[in-house]
Amino acid sequence: MSETVLVSACLLGLKTRYDGEHNLSRTTLDHLQACGLTVIPICPEQLAGLPTPRCKTWFTEGDGQTVIVGTGMMTDETGAEMMEYFLSGARSCLQIALLNKSEKAILKQNSPSCGTKTVYRSGKKVSGMGVTAALLQEHGIKVFSEDDFSSG
Ligand code: SF4
Repeated sequence: MSETVLVSACLLGLKTRYDGEHNLSRTTLDHLQACGLTVIPICPEQLAGLPTPRCKTWFTEGDGQTVIVGTGMMTDETGAEMMEYFLSGARSCLQIALLNKSEKAILKQNSPSCGTKTVYRSGKKVSGMGVTAALLQEHGIKVFSEDDFSSG
């Protein structure tokens, strides 16, 4: 099998987003095809058992890196604490990466799970990582986003 790469399922056109839509990224697909990588679709939030559609979640304190060490906070739009779900999804993705010896992941920017450089905190876009992106990076997996392959 060729080199494996975890890819956010929504970037591949799967309707896994909180609102039941997708984030198809043609430039990401082109990159995957050009490199001949074996794609492993992941959606941390579905792996955590959350439904689709589901409530929107954002950080109220910190980001994915601080949620992992227990100092961050995230809630959904009803105010329910969501850290355990997001940690569970992140751990499942890490397990998938380790089982498949994946050394890189291409993840959806801005997501509370998948963001690699930016996420939403209390409605504002800020610098930070999603929980899954942070956990994968912490275990030596290189994380990229669709922005890294956009032509613009
Ligand atoms: Fe896409 Fe990640 Fe959100 Fe799933 S958790 S819908 S893969 S951004």
